[in-house]
Amino acid sequence: MPRQVLGKLVEQLVEHLDEACVGIDKEGRVQFANPAASALLGLRPGGARGEKIWDVSSVPDFTRAFSRLVKESGVTRREQVIVLPDQRAFLAQMFAVRGPEGRLSGAVAVLRDMTSLNKIEQDMTSFVSRMSQELKKPLTSVKGYVETLLEGAYTDPAICRRFLQVINDETNRMARLLVGLLDASGAAPAPMEKKPISVAAVMRGAADRLSPFALQKNIQLDVHADDRLPPVMGDEAQLGQAITNLLDNALKFTGLVEDGPRRVTMRAEMANGRLLVKIEDTGVGIPPDEQAKVFERFYRVTHGPAAVLGGTGLGLSIATDIVRAMDGTIDVASAPGRGSTFTVNLPV
Ligand code: ADP
Repeated sequence: MPRQVLGKLVEQLVEHLDEACVGIDKEGRVQFANPAASALLGLRPGGARGEKIWDVSSVPDFTRAFSRLVKESGVTRREQVIVLPDQRAFLAQMFAVRGPEGRLSGAVAVLRDMTSLNKIEQDMTSFVSRMSQELKKPLTSVKGYVETLLEGAYTDPAICRRFLQVINDETNRMARLLVGLLDASGAAPAPMEKKPISVAAVMRGAADRLSPFALQKNIQLDVHADDRLPPVMGDEAQLGQAITNLLDNALKFTGLVEDGPRRVTMRAEMANGRLLVKIEDTGVGIPPDEQAKVFERFYRVTHGPAAVLGGTGLGLSIATDIVRAMDGTIDVASAPGRGSTFTVNLPV
């Protein structure tokens, strides 16, 4: 193919690339810039030719790195991530260009949009930091209780039992968190070993565990559960975890209410041959368009009054997995500003 034709083809190719391409001579004068580069670097479309790149570009981080290729001998290739003030991120790959005798004649650069990758990286970082926070809480508490026991508290059987109970709850919480992570990573969950269990006892256990929190937040916590309700088939510790997660949320989001009633009511009842556990709160509520989404893994409401609380967005998805393993369902009815009711529906 004649050189001229080849040159034209390459020119057309560069012109239409989505990637920004720019070339300078050894004085730093712009020799070509495709439309993507003109837009990105703030060059006058078609008008920057012959001008020094550092005089006409609005992205100094890039021009500084790029022009070093023609100012400093020995540098032949550079890569740099450029983040623009509007948070768009680009990977700039820059090469020195040499003539037939190996003499420097200029440099070319290709800039690739990495904004979506950058966003994934940011999401990842914030997820890891949330997760670490979430693990730190139970770990600190376990460490504190173990140390107190070792310092002598173990000699009092009542205190010893109470502390061990907390340690047990906290390690269960960490284990659930890990199960949630494993689930999210695609590993198959372990099958549930099912036995007949009393929902009333599980509800009281969860309420006992969280009553200090209710007291501290000045929330009235009522439990209506009759021991004569028929048993359900499942794993007691896991159902306890599911109910605890729901109750924990109810208390957390009721604790945010400034004025108005602060009440959480947990009730078990039979309906159409199924056992329902209803957890009703007078909390901040959930916007209608988010009510289905809150059961999704890692989903958190990130605007409005609920947004001030941190969390992993795993609590409800873990509860849903547990209840599903017992052939049950969880749903929600909620009015923003008024409160929410989560209903666990289980076969008996
Ligand atoms: P997390 O473990 O971070 O609390 P969840 O999966 O338990 O995550 O909950 C997901 C989101 O659902 C929360 O971020 C919150 O916005 C909302 N939510 C859950 N329960 C309630 C509730 N009782 N009242 C108001 N919002 C709630």
